[in-house]
Amino acid sequence: MYTCGPTVHNFAHLGNFRAYIFEDLLRRTLKYFGYRVIQVMNLTDVEDKTIHASNELGIKLSEYTKKYKDSFFEDWDILRIERAEYYPAATEHIPEMVDLIQRLIKAGHTYEVDGSVYFRISSFSDYGKLANVQPDKLKTGLRVDSDEYEKEDVRDFALWKAWTPQDGEVFWDTPLGRGRPGWHIECSAMSTKYLGTHFDIHTGGVDNMFPHHENEIAQSVCGYGDKFVNLWMHNAHLIINGEKMSKSLGNFYTLRDIISYGNSPRVIRYFLMSAHYRQLLNLIFDPVTGDKGSFENAKGALDRIDEFRVKLAEIKKRKTNDSIDPAVTKILGKASAAFEGALANDLDISGVLGAVFSMIKDVNRLLASNDISSRDADLIEEKLKDWDRVLDVISPDKEESFDEARIDELVEERNRARREKDFARSDEIRDQLASEGIIIQDTADGTRWRKK
Ligand code: AMP
Ligand code: ZN
Repeated sequence: MYTCGPTVHNFAHLGNFRAYIFEDLLRRTLKYFGYRVIQVMNLTDVEDKTIHASNELGIKLSEYTKKYKDSFFEDWDILRIERAEYYPAATEHIPEMVDLIQRLIKAGHTYEVDGSVYFRISSFSDYGKLANVQPDKLKTGLRVDSDEYEKEDVRDFALWKAWTPQDGEVFWDTPLGRGRPGWHIECSAMSTKYLGTHFDIHTGGVDNMFPHHENEIAQSVCGYGDKFVNLWMHNAHLIINGEKMSKSLGNFYTLRDIISYGNSPRVIRYFLMSAHYRQLLNLIFDPVTGDKGSFENAKGALDRIDEFRVKLAEIKKRKTNDSIDPAVTKILGKASAAFEGALANDLDISGVLGAVFSMIKDVNRLLASNDISSRDADLIEEKLKDWDRVLDVISPDKEESFDEARIDELVEERNRARREKDFARSDEIRDQLASEGIIIQDTADGTRWRKK
């Protein structure tokens, strides 16, 4: 599986993470169903934007991109996104790109203008089929030089860009002359290096479909003479309060921004995962009014899971008998079938999450009339753990779980103090927890705690 990765010219924004979370869900799903996954994600560390920015700052391109490469991996881990097997950087694969361009030259798909090499789209009859764009017969022969362009510009694109003074120190001396690769060639050259000329899945956001993926197909099919990709999967965009996220609209957020407004990584992951990947996902969020909208909803869902987990932990503490309640087996069987069926149905995440919450509801209903054994609670916990191999939102964030053990201890100490009629101490603990946003509830089944 090949995934178009970040252009490392800035911190990744929340929209980028929608793409990476979709790809994470896909790779975990494939693994869940027993497939072996080799995922390659490129790091675009040389193209128009990075060259421009590093030259403006007067620093080396590699120095400029290193900061964003590092932050990208930090964010990746914060959101629990599984690491791909390979992260090839464009600047480390110039010879492979030159080799592919030479193949295209040899096969007659290119022409040269002032030292730059262009792909002639009229030489490839399938050009435009993926994104359903029609190369305008009158316009073919016209060229486009920028790395990114719109559908109106269905034109011959640059494979190799001859050095210009604007590029400063960024150039490679190669058999094609002094210059640098166009943006599109890296994905064709690097996917083939790591996955071969024909592989299973290629992903990216819908904005990549044209021109980037269209150009990748043209380069790979014409250069290597193989089928290239079996299945293209594109995620729809994340939008904010109904609008496109952009710097000029002032609604542009990085992961760090969103966390700084008090949203946990687990809540953010849940939100980004919660809509089907082919549907627009609208984030309702307003830091000025403090409206956490979508994140509040995501937190509500996770709170329900957490309350349920606390309940299971309490049942296990009681150390009841080992019998298995057939009603529990039935609930888990039904939920598993629903979970796996939805997952296999093009990652139908609503169905998947629906299965999780139906299971919780069914067990809660059972608990209202029946007691279940600690063995039953174990089985339910195991099921949640198994599902979390795909979702990775059920277990708490690392910091939260650290807190959880400490809070359990404090609650225990408070109960001890109450038994010993040391009410000053028990009140003190209650107040301390309250100041941390933890509410204690004394119920017939023992003491529970939850976050405000
Ligand atoms: P970029 O760093 O711009 O090349 O983008 C990296 C990945 O994020 C690509 O797969 C893009 O298609 C995807 N992407 C960019 N913006 C959004 C967005 N608003 N919503 C979802 N995916 C996006
Ligand atoms: Zn790509």
